[in-house]
Amino acid sequence: MQEFLLGNEAVARGAWEAGVKFVSGYPGTPSTEIIETLARRYPETNPRWTSNEKVAFEEGMGAAIGGLRTLVTMKHVGLNVAADAFMVFPYSGTNGGFVVISADDPGMHSSQNEQDNRYLARVAKVPVLEPSDAQECRDFMMAGLDLSEQFHSPVMLRTTTRLAHHKGLVEVGERKEVPTREFNRDPQRFSVPIYRLLRRPEVEKTLTALAEYAETCPFNRIEAGADHKIGVVTSGISYQYVKEVLPNAGVLRLGMTYPLPANLLRDFCSKYETVYVIEEGEPFIEEFMRAAGIANITGKELFGVIGEYSPARLRKTLGMGNPPAPFTDGIKLIQRPPMFCIGCGHRTVFAALRQLRVTVSGDIGCYTMGALPPYEAEHTTFCMGASIGVAVGLEQAGHENTVAIIGDSTFVHAGIPPLIDAVYNKSRLTLIILDNSATGMTGSQPNPISGKDAMGEETPKLDLEALCRASGVQNVAVVDTWDRKEVVNVIRRAVFFKGPSVVIARGPCQQLPEIKHSHRIPFFIHEDLCTQCDACFKVWCPAITRTENNFPVIAANECTSCTVCAQVCPTDAIKLAEEFA
Ligand code: SF4
Ligand code: SF4
Repeated sequence: MQEFLLGNEAVARGAWEAGVKFVSGYPGTPSTEIIETLARRYPETNPRWTSNEKVAFEEGMGAAIGGLRTLVTMKHVGLNVAADAFMVFPYSGTNGGFVVISADDPGMHSSQNEQDNRYLARVAKVPVLEPSDAQECRDFMMAGLDLSEQFHSPVMLRTTTRLAHHKGLVEVGERKEVPTREFNRDPQRFSVPIYRLLRRPEVEKTLTALAEYAETCPFNRIEAGADHKIGVVTSGISYQYVKEVLPNAGVLRLGMTYPLPANLLRDFCSKYETVYVIEEGEPFIEEFMRAAGIANITGKELFGVIGEYSPARLRKTLGMGNPPAPFTDGIKLIQRPPMFCIGCGHRTVFAALRQLRVTVSGDIGCYTMGALPPYEAEHTTFCMGASIGVAVGLEQAGHENTVAIIGDSTFVHAGIPPLIDAVYNKSRLTLIILDNSATGMTGSQPNPISGKDAMGEETPKLDLEALCRASGVQNVAVVDTWDRKEVVNVIRRAVFFKGPSVVIARGPCQQLPEIKHSHRIPFFIHEDLCTQCDACFKVWCPAITRTENNFPVIAANECTSCTVCAQVCPTDAIKLAEEFA
């Protein structure tokens, strides 16, 4: 039977078929749909969102040594958060099969950096599988669990944005029930003191055995071509581009990219005058080949390390003429810069910050858009949770009245220790927590503040106010995020408070299904009352445009009834549509 699946859906399907019984992860583009698919279609896999990737990895590690087939999912930078556990797991090795998804993002479509996590796998001494299409996303997921159990090693399945989000036909099967393996309490294997040193040689032995396996691994495949001069070594989604642009080249497609098969590579390259190494990201394979003494290769000096590859880019790089014009050429597209959703509660907060002219240290979430026009009210953004530490550092550098701003999910992920630290070190930090009860940027997944789990079931709700007070913050204020004036007042008071303060700006994400599909009566602008003062345009709501007569008009099907434009109208011309009926 075949199904038409996203790469991420195919990974989920593979996990289900392979008998996975525990799945954990934190939402992060481009990995998010894996757990969403499992929660929707395959609840037998026991999927869950965790508060961050380190927790996800550690729960998965426990489940796997406890004997379950396990999947842990995250985006590439998530593995930085989980790195502590990732680096140490190979020392004990696993019991049940354990696969971690590292969803890398070449081109930084939704990330703060380009990072090739094959290097992290090499540091951790963890084998890496790289599928090239949706079918292989399913197949490699299943094979990764087998490999993990065969070598008692965690396995990384590395995907990239195009692979995770493309769709393809996938041959699928039925679920195989895999018995839970027995867990033997063996401190020499699973505990740190002195024993880890004894385990160190085991890690090297496993790696050597994996390198031998890589030489004959069925995923490292040679495809002979009509061209006997040019060969290509490739992996991942780049394989598809190579097949399109160089259909006659001989190809060594590496499905297992760590450890790499030195003999197979040497043997393949000896058959060609020139071998192109075409791999998106860093020269991971290329460096290995050069170190193995393979000289007839051309790689990053031609194809480059920055951004995504594509057939058009390869054609251009190889001097094969200009690629066919994209079908969008000649079509006038309206420029649409990234912006907050209509009715998003973050708008009032950034408008207030702009008005107060404070320095704002931001974090990772939808609210990075506060740095863009028209708000331009966020001045630093680095990584998850960094807003608070950076604000404390700026304060030490003399930038008083610095405000840190963070979303609810990111606060739970990585904001709690720095808040405790700020109080402990007597900072006067002002922290704004944008509490919209969702992990908004990745599609409004639930988190510990939502009161719902990945399966949509009720779960205890984290009390943010109590948590901030327990951290030592005395001045904790909660404000309705759509109350424009009150948002400004509460933030101003917090900024001038002589001690640490937290403002919780509360209001649900507009993309939450229960909000998005709720019946809301739109607002309407009465032209007889409107004096064309343009005050309502200054709330920057995309639902408000102009008529031919230059009057503001609200798109009734877009308005979320947030009330903010009505709050600024001096003549009371903006009312609920039903009031004019
Ligand atoms: S997804 Fe939610 S949080 Fe993000 S901009 Fe839209 S309404 Fe705001
Ligand atoms: S009430 Fe006004 S500001 Fe709010 S969504 Fe509707 S048009 Fe936009």
